[in-house]
Amino acid sequence: MKLIIASNNAHKLEEIKAILGGAFEEILSLREAGIAHETVEDGATFAANAEKKAREIMELSGCCALADDSGLCVDALGGAPGIYSARFAGEHGNDAANRRKLLDMLADTDERAAHFSCAMALVRADGSMTAAEGYVYGEIARAEAGENGFGYDSLFYLPERGCTMAQLPPDEKNAISHRHNALYALLEKLK
Ligand code: IMP
Repeated sequence: MKLIIASNNAHKLEEIKAILGGAFEEILSLREAGIAHETVEDGATFAANAEKKAREIMELSGCCALADDSGLCVDALGGAPGIYSARFAGEHGNDAANRRKLLDMLADTDERAAHFSCAMALVRADGSMTAAEGYVYGEIARAEAGENGFGYDSLFYLPERGCTMAQLPPDEKNAISHRHNALYALLEKLK
């Protein structure tokens, strides 16, 4: 089956392609499929946004589309930034500003628990959908560490690994991440 990944985020695309490996005959990014489209992410949940993105790309392409909506949920902030993770500090996709804002907001608390959440939606050409979610749990570090990954990875400390997500090699992140866990659950449902 040919699959279009409904995302313009190069990091996500790379991770999804690496995690999916040979699970699909052909995996195309939006650019590779010749589609220039940005979905307005106005859903109330990760799942609603993932479904909206996948459905719009399926309708534009006529092909099976897979979308990821993901973000960081911090306990001390009541689950924020959550679905607003990409634009926490205002400008969409300014990762450095988002991380600075997060560190500032948590400066006076020892409550550091957080998780990454990922919703995956696969919408087929007939409109039918299979969806799944995945999570990874950790803590917000007091300072950035690591160069790999993107977004909040350099602040996301994994106690059992003794390092941040950004200190893991990409293949190790892809074996434990929220994105991996969501895709794994999705593939199980597709079997
Ligand atoms: P989306 O494109 O609306 O799903 O926004 C996702 C945002 O959540 C990204 O811009 C990052 O800030 C954050 N995020 C999602 N997944 C990850 C990840 O694997 N590592 C670090 N940050 C992530």
